[in-house]
Amino acid sequence: MIVMKFGGSSIADAEKVHRAVRLVAEARERRPVVVVSAHGKTTDQLLESARRASFGTIDTSVITAYHQTLLSELDLEPTLCDDLFDRLQGFIRGVSLIRELTPRTIDQILAFGEQCSTRIVAACMRSQGLPGVAVNSFEIGLETDSRHGAATPLPGIDASLASHLRKVEGIAVVTGFLGKDAAGSITTLGRSGSDYTASIVGAALGVEEIQIWTDVSGVMTCDPSVDPRARSLARLSFEEASELAYYGAEVLHPATLVPAIRKGIPVRVLNTMHPSDSGSIILPESALTEASAKSVVYKEDVCLITIASARLMSAVEILSRAFGILSDSGIGVHMATTSEATVSLVTDRDYDEHILSQAMNRLAELGTAQIYREQAIVCVIGEELKGKVRILEEIFAVLGSNGIKARMVSQSATEINIAVLIRNAEIATAVTSLHELILAVPQSFRGERR
Ligand code: ADP
Ligand code: ASP
Ligand code: MG
Repeated sequence: MIVMKFGGSSIADAEKVHRAVRLVAEARERRPVVVVSAHGKTTDQLLESARRASFGTIDTSVITAYHQTLLSELDLEPTLCDDLFDRLQGFIRGVSLIRELTPRTIDQILAFGEQCSTRIVAACMRSQGLPGVAVNSFEIGLETDSRHGAATPLPGIDASLASHLRKVEGIAVVTGFLGKDAAGSITTLGRSGSDYTASIVGAALGVEEIQIWTDVSGVMTCDPSVDPRARSLARLSFEEASELAYYGAEVLHPATLVPAIRKGIPVRVLNTMHPSDSGSIILPESALTEASAKSVVYKEDVCLITIASARLMSAVEILSRAFGILSDSGIGVHMATTSEATVSLVTDRDYDEHILSQAMNRLAELGTAQIYREQAIVCVIGEELKGKVRILEEIFAVLGSNGIKARMVSQSATEINIAVLIRNAEIATAVTSLHELILAVPQSFRGERR
């Protein structure tokens, strides 16, 4: 058994849906379970529609028209999604009346994207003689906590999920991205969450492989949209891929590897448009490359918060209280450094003005608290970094020669990543120049490893 997950770009038009269905047909002997994202940019459009509704505008026409075109070009029943469009319109009307958009309501609205895509892909499969069955993940035991917009699956859901999926008569086409909380509300797993669904479903079923079908030929040495010289990586370790996803490589949702690691299931990243490309395989163990590291990734729009204690409070005390305050506000932290009476923290993303100013007011009770926005983390990742002492020097030299000053640096205990904090505006230069460092095979690499 395998899981095949198709991202939004892989099913963005009729021709691509046909391609995806052909790939499922070719894999039939491996008993695929399919997971799909919403078609194309549907999630963005649903979000936009919901935001506009909160200002009084009711308009779902772009979303409806797009799906109707897909249905027509795929020669499917034109009314297949009409009940979903009606319900979506009802939600949008409700938001426009109340003029309030809560995270819970956003999730109910976003859920229409994957509900439409599973129906359409399953129907296209049936039209090609494959027994596709649309399955709502939130109705088959994918239970999560209630953190709308960034929900986490509850422990112990494997058995129920697997038993539901095993009962499906045909090839299940499961909604990515969606779950349900204890109160029965639909939740979402965070943007790009269908990768996570694929892995959750794969772990529950104990599949032999989880395949992520996307628009690039695997995990690459850097985001190809930043540097076109990016090359695919044949093989990565679970740990490398986890770090890479955590530090912003869009190709994988940050939590994708968690369920796969729990069950030791290989994850393969493949290109829907070029299925014969070998792509990347993510396994428990990596293979070293002849480069200084495997990949450079970045995360934009994070905030740097510094706190200098006015009183004689130790850095440890400031740190523990600051973490408490940020956690109360639901703000995640990616990097932290301390000096004698100062701590610096980097948030995992930019938050609403309101949330940040509330947290800053409380942090100000600990000392002088300052916030710097439009910051970015750039991270160099690879098992090759282990014991390679000169790489830090090389990273600073490369950044410095491009006029970039790193405000913070951190290295994980496992030594497989080095992260630096820069400004958003410096991302392109920093990523491209560090990528050059990776593409080159530096002399210093040879013979230096411990
Ligand atoms: P999907 O719609 O299949 O989920 P995404 O857009 O979420 O696809 O992810 C694929 C995109 O991730 C690629 O088009 C690429 O621009 C981006 N990306 C960022 N970093 C990397 C990387 N290190 N390797 C490959 N792709 C990357
Ligand atoms: N449709 C969702 C999103 O756009 C989930 C996904 O694509 O993985 O974020
Ligand atoms: Mg994605």
